[in-house]
Amino acid sequence: MKVEQILEYQKLDKEMFKLEKELRDNPHKKKANSLHETMKTAQERSVKLEEKAGNTLAEIDKVKKQLKTQQEKMAEFMAKDLNALSKQEVEKIASLKDKLAQNLQILEKNLTALAETVNSVLADFNKTIKTFNASKEDFAKCKAEYDRDAKTVEEKKKEVANKLSAIGKEIDGGIMEAYQKRRKENIFPVVVPLMEEGKGSYFCGGCRTQLSFASINKINDEGFANCDHCRRIIYKK
Ligand SMILES: [Zn+2]
Repeated sequence: MKVEQILEYQKLDKEMFKLEKELRDNPHKKKANSLHETMKTAQERSVKLEEKAGNTLAEIDKVKKQLKTQQEKMAEFMAKDLNALSKQEVEKIASLKDKLAQNLQILEKNLTALAETVNSVLADFNKTIKTFNASKEDFAKCKAEYDRDAKTVEEKKKEVANKLSAIGKEIDGGIMEAYQKRRKENIFPVVVPLMEEGKGSYFCGGCRTQLSFASINKINDEGFANCDHCRRIIYKK
C-alpha cells in the first residue's frame, strides 16, 4: 500500500474537514442557539412570574378579608352607647379601639405593598413576554439563514464525499478503517509523518510524543504504526 494514496485522500478530506467546521461554526447557527436560550429563559421566567402574581393576589384576598373583619369590629365598638357603660368598660373599649386602629393601619400598609408587588410583577411579566416574542422572531430569521447556508455547504460536502469514496476504494481496508475511526473523533490530520529529532529519537508528527521501539519497528516493517498517545497513523517519509 502506497502512502501517497492515503495522503491524497487526506488532502481532499481536508476540504471536507473545513466544510464540517464551517457548518459547526456558522454564525447564524450560533446566534440561533443563543436566541433559543434567551427564549427558554424568558419562558421559565414568565412561568415563575405568573406563579408569583397568583400568590400575591391570594395574599391580597387574605389581607382584604382580615381588613373587613377588623373594620366590622371597629363599627361594632362605634355603635356602642358609651353612656350605658361603666367607666372601666369605657376604658377597655377605648384601648381595644386603639389596638384595632393600629391593626387597620398595618393591614392597609400591607395591602399597598402587595399592590405594588403585583404591579411590578405584571410589568416584569410584560417585559419578559416582549423579550420572548422578539427572540422568537429573530430566531426564525437566523434559522432560515442557517438552513440556507447549510444547504450550500451540504451540496459541496456531497461533491467532496463522492470524490473521497472513489479514492477510498483504492486504499487498504484496514488503514481506511483506522483512518475513519480517528476522523470521527475530529482528529485532523489523521496521517502524520514520523519525525526524527536528534539521533535515534523518533516522535509522532501529530502530538509530538516520543515513539516506543515497538512502534518504530512496526513502521520500519509495515510502513505504518499508530501513535500510542493520539492514535494517529504515522508513516515514514
Ligand atoms: Zn501522536
